[in-house]
Parts: sequence; C-alpha cells; structure tokens
Amino acid sequence: MWPALTILIFLAAIALHFWWRAKLRREQESWRAELARRESRAQSAATETLARQDALFDSMIEGVLVLDDAGRVQFANRAFAQMFGTTGILRGQALLEAVRVHEVTELVERASAAGRVVDHELELPGGGGRWLQVNAAALTSVDRRRLGTILVFHDLTRLKQLERTREEFVANVSHELRTPLSLIKGYTETLLDGAQNDPEVATRFLQSIERNAGRLQLLIEDLLTISQLESGHVALNLQPVALASVTEKVFADFAERGARKEITLRHETGALRAQADEVRLQQILGNLVDNAIKYGRAGGNVIVAARETGSDKIEVSVRDDGPGISAESLSRVFERFYRVDKARSRDAGGTGLGLAIVKHLVQSHGGEVWAASEVGTGTTFSFTLPAAKETPASERQMAH
Ligand code: ADP
Repeated sequence: MWPALTILIFLAAIALHFWWRAKLRREQESWRAELARRESRAQSAATETLARQDALFDSMIEGVLVLDDAGRVQFANRAFAQMFGTTGILRGQALLEAVRVHEVTELVERASAAGRVVDHELELPGGGGRWLQVNAAALTSVDRRRLGTILVFHDLTRLKQLERTREEFVANVSHELRTPLSLIKGYTETLLDGAQNDPEVATRFLQSIERNAGRLQLLIEDLLTISQLESGHVALNLQPVALASVTEKVFADFAERGARKEITLRHETGALRAQADEVRLQQILGNLVDNAIKYGRAGGNVIVAARETGSDKIEVSVRDDGPGISAESLSRVFERFYRVDKARSRDAGGTGLGLAIVKHLVQSHGGEVWAASEVGTGTTFSFTLPAAKETPASERQMAH
C-alpha cells in the first residue's frame, strides 16, 4: 500500500513540476512579446517624432545647421541646402566642407567661447549680392557638457537691396534739391550784393530764381506722387474713359510748348474707351506727350495712337520722330532719376521722375508699359489698359 502511495505522490509532484514550468514559460513568452511590442511602439513613436521634426525644420524659411562637438554636420534643413546650394547628404561632413565660408567657422568658435548666442552678417561669395544673418549658439546638456553648435541663417538679401535703394533715393533727392536751391541762393546773394541796382541784371536773376523755384516745386510734387504710389495709397476711380477726349485735353495743355518747337500733335484713338481713372490717365499721357515734345525733333510730329488688342485690352502709344534712345539707356529710362542726358533734362525742366510715375500709374491700372526706339528715327512709348466695361443698353436705360 505505502509504496504505491509514494509512487503516486512522486508522480503527482513530477506532473506539478512540469505544469509549473510550462506556465512559467508561457508567462515569460507573453512578457517577451509584450516587451517587443512596447519596444517597437517606442521605436515607431521616435521615428515619427524625428520625421515630424524634419518636416518642421524643412518648412522653415531660415536655414538651420546643427554641428556635433567635433564640428561635423549632424543636421541641415532644406532652406540651408538652398542658401548654400548644397546637394546630397551633408551629415558627417566638416563645417568648412559644407559651407565653404571661413566667417562661419570663426562664428562657431566665437559661440562656443562666449557661451551665448552670437550673430554676424555675411555676404555669400560668388558676387550675387546675397546676404545672410547668422546666429550661432553652443548646445549644452543639462550637466553642462558640450554637445555641439546650432546655427540659424536668415536671408537678408531683399532687406539689403531695399536699404541700398533707399540710400540711393535719399542721395538723389538731396542732390536734385540742392542744385536749384544753391542757384537760388547764389542769385539772391548777388542781387543783395548790388546787382539789384542794375534793372536789366536784376530782372534776369529774378527770372532764374523763379525758374529754379518752379523746378523745386515740380520736384516736390513728383516726389509726393511717387511716395503716394509706392505706399499703395492711391485709390483709382475706374470708369469708361474715351481716349480721344483725354488726348485732346492733354494736347490742349501742351499746345503752346508744342507750337514753340513747331511740333505737330496728332491722335488716332478712334472711339476706343479704356476702364481707367481719367485724372491718372491724363497724367500718364501728359508725361509721355511732354517728353515727346521735350526730347523730340523741332518741326517734328508727336502721334498718340490706340488700338484694341485681344483679351479685353487697349494699347496706347505715344510716338515721336526725335533722336531716339540707345538700347542701353532704353532699359533704364523707367528708373527713378535716370536720364540719358542730365543737362538736357534739367534745361528742359525735367525731374527724372516722369517715367517712373508713368510706370507706377499704368501698373496700378493692371497694365504694362514699355519703350521702343531707333536712334535717329524716333521713340515710341506704349502701355496697356483694360478695355472699358460697357454697360449693356438695357441696364443703361434702367439707370435713367
Ligand atoms: P525727365 O524729367 O528727365 O524727362 P523722365 O523720367 O520723364 O525724366 O525721362 C527719363 C529720361 O528718358 C529723360 O531724361 C530722357 O533722357 C529720356 N526720354 C524720355 N522720353 C524720351 C523721348 N521721347 N525721346 C528721347 N528720350 C527720352
């Protein structure tokens, strides 16, 4: 009896042992599977975070470059690659290989020595006039270990161009204002010094003073117009305008000047109507007709013509048979203060701003302006305007 019971207990113990081991193994396997699942979830979360970070950096307009402690590239975003024209993978490259500008290497050294953000403006080599502002900061861990450097590049090219244009403009304006002012001052001093006692000389000087004061006035008016146009504060009163009637008004304004040079003014505008601001259109045509008379041939012709072009546009041209403009100057005549012949323009009472104003006014109507010329034959200035939006007869009747 006892031996049988002992064997039974022994067998039960062995069975329990195997059952227990199998259970343990199953639990271990399930733990292992759970661990693997968690690890892969963590990994894909990390990959997603990295992808999101890359997308974020790539959507920035600033260039970003991260260097490791040894000065090798760890990360560069898309804007950086575009700024420096680099292609392919930069990771692992030395800084100088990636940017090829010594100033940046020096900046990285300064940033790690200073322990704060340092900045620098640099002009990219290659003569393209491209400017960047670079901010560099040392990257450190919580326990103050040096991890590397982060550099942020901001494109300053447009800002620099605007700054240069503004400086040139101020220099030009000062020069233009100074010339008539010093003449006025000179004539006044001479008059006060005794010339006023000679009526003939006095009259001549006073006429010069009046002429130069007039020039100053014109210049200030043109400057105000330019500044209004450039700030976009010009409201256009757009309505159908008959080109023939505007041209005749302009011709009436310039009839005397034309007659003085025996220039014949003619127009071929038919019954065309543009969708325009009448006052502004008169200003555009006035400037072009004024130039055609000023720079045209004595005894010549000035013709204003208009034609319909496809896509609801009207092309207007002002043609003279004067000495013309060379191809080199032609590409610059719409620039502020550009004159082919400075002395001639000043003698003719020009400010050098007329065509810049014309360009702005045409563009604010949604049109384009250009010039064509053949030296010795003449010049044609042309511009486009939207054709008048005709009100259907039925609506016109209803309005009455
Ligand atoms: P300005 O006040 O000097 O006339 P504009 O801007 O009106 O200034 O014209 C710029 C320059 O373009 C003029 O100084 C002149 O040299 C040249 N120009 C303009 N129109 C003509 C033309 N019809 N024929 C020849 N040259 C012209």
